[in-house]
Amino acid sequence: MWTLIALALGALVVYVAACAWWPFMACRRCLGTGKKRSPSGKAWRPCPRCGGNGRRVRLGRRIYEIFRTGA
Ligand SMILES: [Zn+2]
Repeated sequence: MWTLIALALGALVVYVAACAWWPFMACRRCLGTGKKRSPSGKAWRPCPRCGGNGRRVRLGRRIYEIFRTGA
């Protein structure tokens, strides 16, 4: 039982460390392009989900920020 908890905690630490190092993922809505294409494919507008920058902050990065600010 404790081995399982230790393994889960270890995996969490590794995941949070990875998120501290690589904080962003490509936005799933626009696949990291930051653009939302019109059906014609020629016109586009900034992706509403990521605000046009094409990146999404990972959940682990938020956890890392909580630890970093000492909450
Ligand atoms: Zn997007």
